Amino acid sequence: MQDIQTLKELLSSPKKIIITTHHKPDADALGSSLGLAGYLKKKNHQVSVITPSDYPDFLNWMSGNDEVIIYSNNIQKKVESLINESDIIFCLDFSAISRLEGIGELIKKSTSFKVLIDHHLEPEKFADFEYWFPKAAATCELIYDFLEDLGELSYIDIPIAECLYAGIMTDTGSFRHNSTSKKVHQIVAELIDLGIDNSAIHRRIFDNNTEDKLRFLGHALSEKLVVLKEFNTAYFVISKEDLEKFSSKTGDTEGLVNYALSIENIVLAAVIIERKEAIKLSFRSVGEFSVNDFARKYFEGGGHRNAAGGISYVSLEETVKKFQDILPLYQQSLKNINK
Ligand code: 5GP
Ligand code: MN
Repeated sequence: MQDIQTLKELLSSPKKIIITTHHKPDADALGSSLGLAGYLKKKNHQVSVITPSDYPDFLNWMSGNDEVIIYSNNIQKKVESLINESDIIFCLDFSAISRLEGIGELIKKSTSFKVLIDHHLEPEKFADFEYWFPKAAATCELIYDFLEDLGELSYIDIPIAECLYAGIMTDTGSFRHNSTSKKVHQIVAELIDLGIDNSAIHRRIFDNNTEDKLRFLGHALSEKLVVLKEFNTAYFVISKEDLEKFSSKTGDTEGLVNYALSIENIVLAAVIIERKEAIKLSFRSVGEFSVNDFARKYFEGGGHRNAAGGISYVSLEETVKKFQDILPLYQQSLKNINK
């Protein structure tokens, strides 16, 4: 089913709805989830937002934050019954079920009607209705489009608009990535017109650092940055000890990769982090070099052409070695870029 009218009919009477998004939700993941939840609640649906993990404190201001169900083993039964009893499941801002971590299997085997709203490349086929536009700058942009297609834009109030603005702002890198289209600015203009304080939202997200986070950044920049000029590549390697030393919390490493990409002539940037469960990799690039392809091919990941992530189950040292060994294969394509 790809006809939005059918979905509209499905939504025309109160339903039990689950909204879920990717592990370690960012502002786009949480903003799109809570923005959509705000709308669906106004339409008298029973809505549960379930995240596979916690998320940064600087997102706690979003309307509906208090009701988010953060999955953990302790509440497995509760989450299982919510999923089993649901009529519709909205999957937002991810394209691979593996990004749901612990709740992936539950969602996969559920027979509820599944709706994917996403902008990542190469989505897995698991949804009954796909609202998939890889050119969109953010899933929050797609929630706006979705409501427009449903003829329901008038339901966007200030709390919903704040959530959508936050996701668009962060996924466009504060309106600087090449995904920042005229349409993005038009949507944002409409959100501002509703009365949101866009400057305050920026401050809540970017000027809300803990001292530990900033000192960790200083440590990473002075001690952990590797620049390989011959491969136009720069990366950070962050060990468990680095994280512990600065009492690192969820969100504290967000944005670090951009510092590596900001170096002159750098085309590929990475952060390689030793997390509890596995080694997590974050990639950024400029121009044609596709970190989506790179992450998919070597690190079981994916994302967008210029922003992607992946995972590795060998040690930190072995992961770094693997990354370094791959670079010579791309030396030419890493050079061919006008920054
Ligand atoms: P970040 O580096 O900010 O964690 O993620 C960059 C982009 O890649 C985001 O759009 C994110 O959703 C996606 N991404 C991050 N990690 C993974 C992963 O392990 N697998 C896939 N498929 N996408 C990822
Ligand atoms: Mn996104």
